[in-house]
Amino acid sequence: MKVLITGGSGFIGSHLAERLIAAGEEVFVIDNLWTGKLSNISGIQSNKRFHLVVDTILNEAVMNELVFKADQIYHLAAAVGVRNVMDHPVETLDINVKGTETVLRLANKFKKKVFIASTSEIYGKHVEHSLSEDDNRVMGSVKKRRWAYACSKTLDEFLGLAYHEEKKLPVVIGRLFNTVGPRQTGRYGMVLPTFVQSALLGRPITVYGDGNQTRSFTHVMDVLDAITRLMAEPMAEGEVFNIGSDKEVTINELAQRVKDLTQSESEIEHIPYEKAYGPGFEDMERRCPNITRVGDLIGFKPSYDLDTIITSVIEYFKQ
Ligand code: UDP
Repeated sequence: MKVLITGGSGFIGSHLAERLIAAGEEVFVIDNLWTGKLSNISGIQSNKRFHLVVDTILNEAVMNELVFKADQIYHLAAAVGVRNVMDHPVETLDINVKGTETVLRLANKFKKKVFIASTSEIYGKHVEHSLSEDDNRVMGSVKKRRWAYACSKTLDEFLGLAYHEEKKLPVVIGRLFNTVGPRQTGRYGMVLPTFVQSALLGRPITVYGDGNQTRSFTHVMDVLDAITRLMAEPMAEGEVFNIGSDKEVTINELAQRVKDLTQSESEIEHIPYEKAYGPGFEDMERRCPNITRVGDLIGFKPSYDLDTIITSVIEYFKQ
């Protein structure tokens, strides 16, 4: 099978590309290397079944050819990282809105199945423990830049579902909850690689706010299991799935686990959100998925616990 991965040189995309190559598929990647890196795909770049196009998904002519060639598409290209979104609001909206519109329009033109990577961010400022796919979204003001990302991804979901309902396009949507693992960089704000790097270098581990906010971390390999199995399951078409772990941890606890597992002397410091992201920044207090839907359909259950996840990230940075 020929598979197109948009954003295939990124953290998640490159792991997916490797997995599909190992499974005998022919893989086409388009990546503009904004946050993706060539080093992520160095292990497969010389494989005859791997093809890389360095370009933006906004390039209609290039995308037309790639989508035409592909049997199915994993659309992972997007602006990623809170830091990136805060620093580059125009690019964020452009790539997440126009990019996905291009992917879906061309997929529909050639009737190709698409996986759309969405995000837990779209739930917004919920404080419930167990977020379900059909819950309301709680968005902040449009003056708060962070929510541009959530809204752009929400629009992607609306568009994906619209193509499925109106044009019968096979579309599967996955809402990824804090996916972590080797190759993720801390450069765009992500907490786990940032904490691990600080701990290994003996620098302060900086917790934003009071550290009582929670997240649920999922290893990238578990995420790949979920998305590839959902793509192979016809009943997943036209549906939205939470993909993540239902084990919630506070950022304070995360900092302490990283400190313990690296045996680091680093201090854990708390710094105000304003100092990290500028005035008026809004964080999400809690974020933990209900994973019943994906569990019922494909038997998905995360297999990596938090310590194993942290250890895999530590080993990556030590290398
Ligand atoms: N965070 C932190 N220190 C950092 C980076 C992030 O305390 O160096 C916090 C951040 O404020 C948030 C959580 O960790 O509450 C997860 O942040 P991340 O940017 O990784 O993901 P998201 O906010 O999108 O879940």
